[in-house]
Amino acid sequence: MSDCVFCRIVARQIPATLVHEDEHTLAFMDLGQVNPGHVLVTVKSHAESLYALEDAQARAVLPAAARIARAIRDAFKPAGLSVYQANGKAAGQTVFHYHVHLVPRHEGDGMALSWPVKNPPREKLEEYAQKIRASLG
Ligand SMILES: [Zn+2]
Repeated sequence: MSDCVFCRIVARQIPATLVHEDEHTLAFMDLGQVNPGHVLVTVKSHAESLYALEDAQARAVLPAAARIARAIRDAFKPAGLSVYQANGKAAGQTVFHYHVHLVPRHEGDGMALSWPVKNPPREKLEEYAQKIRASLG
């Protein structure tokens, strides 16, 4: 038996309140519910993070997330919706099975994300981009 809680949900070994399922994805209500209608979209086959997603999984996640986001919008009429996805402990990932949070948002709901911009000069952006392009191959 897997120790991964999301693999156990996919295998129906532990309960979850399901919202959507297709070949590659399973979506269910987040137990924490930052706001009512907070859904997690995960992949059915274990992948720890974005880095580990197979292309077929990646191709499936965003259409599912967009479809569910529209359903959340229609059902809960939130003022906004945040899409949150963390990779690695330093990024805030706590369940190490890839998942995307769809969080309905309201003014003053208390959800916060610090965004400490550095505004480096254009030459630094080119230097950073070159490192990424070199790794893309
Ligand atoms: Zn898993």
